[in-house]
Amino acid sequence: ATPTALMVGTGRGAQLGILIKGPEVLESTRAVDTVVLDKTGTVTTGQMALRSVHTVEGVSGAEALRLAGALEHASEHPIARAVADAAAAAEPDGVLPPVDGFRNTPGLGVQGVVQGHLVLAGREGFVHGDGALPEPLLAARESAERSGLTAVTVGWDGAVRAVLVVADAVRPTSAEAVRRLRALGLTPVLLTGDNRAVAASVAREVGIDQDQVIAEVLPEDKAAVVARLQAEGRTVAMVGDGVNDAAALARADLGLAMGTGTDAAIEAADLTLVRGDLRAAADAIRLSRRTLGTIK
Ligand code: ADP
Ligand code: MG
Repeated sequence: ATPTALMVGTGRGAQLGILIKGPEVLESTRAVDTVVLDKTGTVTTGQMALRSVHTVEGVSGAEALRLAGALEHASEHPIARAVADAAAAAEPDGVLPPVDGFRNTPGLGVQGVVQGHLVLAGREGFVHGDGALPEPLLAARESAERSGLTAVTVGWDGAVRAVLVVADAVRPTSAEAVRRLRALGLTPVLLTGDNRAVAASVAREVGIDQDQVIAEVLPEDKAAVVARLQAEGRTVAMVGDGVNDAAALARADLGLAMGTGTDAAIEAADLTLVRGDLRAAADAIRLSRRTLGTIK
C-alpha cells in the first residue's frame, strides 16, 4: 500500500475512535484470523459492585466486610475496589482500619494483617488450599458462579470464613462486537484469569463458543496463550485493558487496548479503542482491510 493510502486509513481510524500508533500497523491487521478478548474490563465494564456477603456461623457479615475491605483498600484490582468501597460505606465514619504487610499475588489474591488478623482474600485455592468450602459458603459460591458472578473467598487466622459476591456487567456493545468480528470471518476467543464457570457464562452472553474459552490463566501466562495460538498457525489480535494484559498485547500480531484501560496496556498495544467500545475492534480490522484492499 502507498503511504498516502495508509495515512488516509489512519485519519478515518481517528474518526471511528481508533488511535493508531503508526500507519504500518494497518499492514499487520490484514492477516488477523483470531481475536483474543480479555474478559474483565474488556468484554465487561470492569466496574464491579458488591452484591452479597456470606459467612460461616459465628462470623458477622459486618466483621467479614470490614477485614476484607481494609485489606482490599491497598489493592487497585477492580474486585478490590468494589469490596473496599462497600466496606468503607458500611463504617460509621467511612474509615477502614489500616493494613500491615500487604502483599498482592497477581491473578490470585491479596493478604495482609488487619486488626491483628492475617487476612487473605481472592481465589478459593489461594485462600483455602484444596478441599471443599464449608457450608453455607460452598452453596453461595456455586450459586454465584452459575449466574456469572465472581465469588471472592475470604479467610483469616488460618480458616476460611466468608464469601463475598461481586458482579461485573457485560458491556452493552460486546455482543454486537462479537457478531461483527464473526462477520469478518474472525474467531473470537475469551481469555481470563477468572474461573471457568464465570467465563463460560460471559461467553454465552456475548456469543463466544464454549470451546474458545480459556479461563484460570495467570497474568504471566496470558502471553504464552497468545504464543500457543500463533504456533497453531493463527494470526492473533488481542484486546485487553489491564497491566496483566500488557505482555500478551505486545506478543500478539496486533495488540488493541481499551482506552478506558491502564497506561501499561495502552503503551503495549498497536491500537487504542478510545471510547472503550469493543465494536471499534471490528471497525479497525475492516478499515485496514479496506484501506489496503483498495490499493493492491
Ligand atoms: P482478568 O484476567 O479477567 O482480567 P485477573 O487476572 O485480574 O482477571 O484476576 C483473576 C482472578 O484472581 C479474579 O477473578 C479473582 O478471583 C482473583 N483476584 C485477583 N486479585 C484479587 C483481589 N485483589 N481480590 C480478590 N480477588 C482477586
Ligand atoms: Mg482485564
